[in-house]
Amino acid sequence: MVDLAAVEREASVCTRCPLAAGRTNVVFGVGDTSADLMFVGEGPGRDEDLEGEPFVGRSGHLLDRVLQEELGIGRDRVYISNTVKCRPPGNRDPHPSEVAACRPYLERQIELIEPRVIVTLGNFATRLLLDSTRGIKQLRGRAYPYERAVSGKVSGPNVMVVPTFHPSFVLRSGGAGEAMAGLRADLVRAKRYLGVAAR
Ligand code: SF4
Repeated sequence: MVDLAAVEREASVCTRCPLAAGRTNVVFGVGDTSADLMFVGEGPGRDEDLEGEPFVGRSGHLLDRVLQEELGIGRDRVYISNTVKCRPPGNRDPHPSEVAACRPYLERQIELIEPRVIVTLGNFATRLLLDSTRGIKQLRGRAYPYERAVSGKVSGPNVMVVPTFHPSFVLRSGGAGEAMAGLRADLVRAKRYLGVAAR
C-alpha cells in the first residue's frame, strides 16, 4: 500500500508542470498525518518555498493564532497543505493547468490522511475541492460533503469541506473586520463538524 511518505517522495522530484522550474523546495504539507482537521491553501509563497513548509509567513502566523483562539489547538494537531506544491513565480495565481497537474497529490493526501473536516482557504482550494467556479464569498458560510476522493474511500457525508477566506486576504483586509469575523466563524463551523464527526 502507498503511504504518505511515498507520495511526498514522488512529489519531491515532480516535474509535471512548469512550476517545477522556479521552485527552491516542493512544499508538500506539514502536521499530523492522521489529523481529523486538514487545511488546504493556494500555493507556497516566498517564505514557504525557501523553508519547504506551508504557511510559515504572516499568513501562517495568522492561521496559527485563530486556530489557537477558536479551536484551542496548535498546528501540530492539524495537517496543512496547498493546492499546488511549488511556488508560482512572483506569487501569481496558479494556472488551471498547474492546479490540474498537482491535483492528484492533494487527493492522495486526503485519501491517506482521512480527515473528517477539510477547511479550504481561499478560491483555489475551494473551487477545486467543491468542483465549482463560484467565488469564496458565495461559497463560504456553510459546509459541503466532500465528494471527490481518488478511490471514493473518504468521500461522503462524513467528510465535510468548510470553505473560508485565505489568511492573506484577511491580512490584506486589515486583519480585522468582516474578513476576520468570517474566518473565525468558519473555524467555529469546522469545530462543530469535528465534534459531530468525532472518531
Ligand atoms: S506544482 Fe505540483 S504538479 Fe507542478 S511540479 Fe510542483 S508538485 Fe509537480
